Amino acid sequence: MTAPVVELRGVAKEYGAVVAVDDISLEVQKGEFVVLLGPSGSGKTTLLSMLGGFTPPTRGQILIEGRDVTGKAPAQRPTVTVFQDYALFPHMTVRDNVAFGLAMRRVPKPQRHELAYAAITQVGLSDFSDRRIHQLSGGQRQRVALARAIVIEPAVLLLDEPLGALDVKIRRQMQHELHSLQRDLHATFIHVTHDQEEAMSLADRIVLLNEGRIEDAGPPERIYREPATVFAATFMGDTNIVRGTVSKAGGGRVAVETAVGTLDCKGSGEAGEAVCLSLRPEAIRCGKANGPDSVPLGTGRLGDFVFQGTFRRCHAVAGPDASVRLQMRLPPEIEIEPEAQTPIWIRSSDIVVLKEGQNDR
Ligand code: ADP
Ligand code: MG
Repeated sequence: MTAPVVELRGVAKEYGAVVAVDDISLEVQKGEFVVLLGPSGSGKTTLLSMLGGFTPPTRGQILIEGRDVTGKAPAQRPTVTVFQDYALFPHMTVRDNVAFGLAMRRVPKPQRHELAYAAITQVGLSDFSDRRIHQLSGGQRQRVALARAIVIEPAVLLLDEPLGALDVKIRRQMQHELHSLQRDLHATFIHVTHDQEEAMSLADRIVLLNEGRIEDAGPPERIYREPATVFAATFMGDTNIVRGTVSKAGGGRVAVETAVGTLDCKGSGEAGEAVCLSLRPEAIRCGKANGPDSVPLGTGRLGDFVFQGTFRRCHAVAGPDASVRLQMRLPPEIEIEPEAQTPIWIRSSDIVVLKEGQNDR
């Protein structure tokens, strides 16, 4: 593997007693689309701001293209930051906004316009280069902000919730465009969001933050299917966490005693150990179990049906004293009487064993 384009070594930021970022080490490869994902207050903006040079870290080192930039100002780094409010000049034209950064970098005027036009075309605004910013829609402004960033050809493009102000439909479309733009440019993007769907549709790798620390990091599919912690399992989509105790372990498998029975699944542990199991709503099925891999979850009483278009959401109440409530996602065409009692089951390979308390730090 080649040298990383970004390297964080034990980076921390404290504001008095508040630990915003807590000892983060991370490497980003050239051409990677990394998404920093996490709930509000998890340290995403602080981390991005330290990368961009707007916030000095309390501890640790930041290297970009192998150079230590820890004490360097934003303009002395090969980074550009796109902020949520875009920070455009409202009365200037699209072209002048995009060319502005080039003028700051003393690029000669004719070349400036040529480069600006190329960037404007790249974001699909070639017909709008003479418009002023206040004459553009939110989505178009977003593209101007992107054009202004990519025209500089930074080693790393930093984006802080750049799609946060757009309505859902435009946001989904811009996600798609941002993704292709990054691919076309072979550029390195580090993008902040609290929206797990956005993270999944953009990222080569998601870095999931929680209370200033990396909770899990990896490709979206891996984090969704095999989350490292209870926090990662619950933040990346909906899931059911069922607590239990390991009764048998060996050969890469465990049997876990839970309120819905003994669940046999892939994993490691020791007899007597308390664990949490993650059961995704879409993985829980009802009716007669089939296949050698199926694990019965007892009888469920189904209720709270809500039609959601591509699936029908409901709850199953199961276990002794109806103590377990499981969210389910059934095919939309399925017709079940509310309060119906039915066997419920899951494939063993869809159960993820998580250590209890792995996220209690
Ligand atoms: P996120 O972007 O994930 O919502 P932030 O990085 O903005 O999170 O904030 C992380 C934590 O640091 C929060 O608890 C926040 O209140 C605190 N924080 C951020 N900036 C400052 C600041 N300038 N002064 C004091 N506390 C701050
Ligand atoms: Mg933020």
